[in-house]
Amino acid sequence: MSIPSGEMISPREPLIDRFGRQINYIRFSVTDRCDFRCVYCMSERMNFLPRARVLTLEELATLGRAFVDLGARRIRITGGEPLVRRNVLCLFRELGRLREHGLDELTLTTNGSQLESMAADLREAGVARLNISLDSLHPERFRRMTRTGDLATVLRGIHAARAVGFQRIKLNAVILKHRNHDEVVDLTRFAIDHGLDISFIEEMPLGEIGEHDRAEAYYPSDAIRADLKQVFTLTPTTERTGGPSRYYRIPETDSRIGFISPHSHNFCDTCNRVRVSAEGRLLLCLGQEHSVDLRYVLRAHPGDHQRLKQAIIAAMGIKPRHHDFQIGGQTTILRYMNHTGG
Ligand code: SAM
Ligand code: SF4
Repeated sequence: MSIPSGEMISPREPLIDRFGRQINYIRFSVTDRCDFRCVYCMSERMNFLPRARVLTLEELATLGRAFVDLGARRIRITGGEPLVRRNVLCLFRELGRLREHGLDELTLTTNGSQLESMAADLREAGVARLNISLDSLHPERFRRMTRTGDLATVLRGIHAARAVGFQRIKLNAVILKHRNHDEVVDLTRFAIDHGLDISFIEEMPLGEIGEHDRAEAYYPSDAIRADLKQVFTLTPTTERTGGPSRYYRIPETDSRIGFISPHSHNFCDTCNRVRVSAEGRLLLCLGQEHSVDLRYVLRAHPGDHQRLKQAIIAAMGIKPRHHDFQIGGQTTILRYMNHTGG
């Protein structure tokens, strides 16, 4: 695969929405498929998209180029599990080259299951930072939360990523009451001991996921902070990493402790991002359905880079002011997180 070189790269044209927010952070869900079935993300018997409906790696690379033309500084690859997509390293290499054209950072969110064998290649391809999901340090519990995951494999993946030189690896832990809320101190200690950052995430009501009751599982960031304060001193910081986490530091450690709290703290005023779903829908907000079908533009007008960019610019006009998540799921978004890209 190679990115067509024609008209690369025009003067950068920033994407500004109608509320004056500059959009410079793009997330691509490169597959809806996954080797795990986390209880908060998917139903146990998940139906995946037919391949023809998923963007090809070439289409994803073309989109990356268009967004960078339009001023994107960061691209995060997510999914589903990005590393189970066949030949995905080719995409990382292509997107990695966009660093010569204005991209500051290519990053990846992964469940860690494939990292042991892929970490070195990802680093070579230009991936700057990794977020690795880790909800529990108990093998049995990890298996119950992910339904199919193997904790030891993920831990080996984390160690491999550190060994090949990834800095500032961040763990993501979705915290659910009665499932893993009693592990926040242990997960934090694990992060500190291994020189990692960690973000605790409130569950979001994305997709109908069967038997799991979201209202019952809700465990707010304030409760997590209170639990941590029993053991650690948490000092608030103004640090941001381009995402919605609010960070704290624990004195005399290198680790940042983040909280992603879509329910208890609305992070929309400073939203700088859009997402592209595995099917090529440009999603203007994680918590609303406003979207534009970029796959249609790509397939109806192959090679028409200007038309693609115009479609992206026009989409800024429908980016909502904020999401509308409610605890208890009255406003459940029908999309699944794995289509959307977390
Ligand atoms: N498979 C990769 C992983 O798990 O890291 C990348 C995709 S996953 C959808 C991205 C992130 O979204 C993960 O950290 C996951 O824990 C989080 N996530 C999934 N479903 C969620 C939900 N309903 N609410 C909050 N976070 C969720
Ligand atoms: Fe897969 Fe990530 Fe969803 Fe878990 S959170 S099922 S690892 S996509």
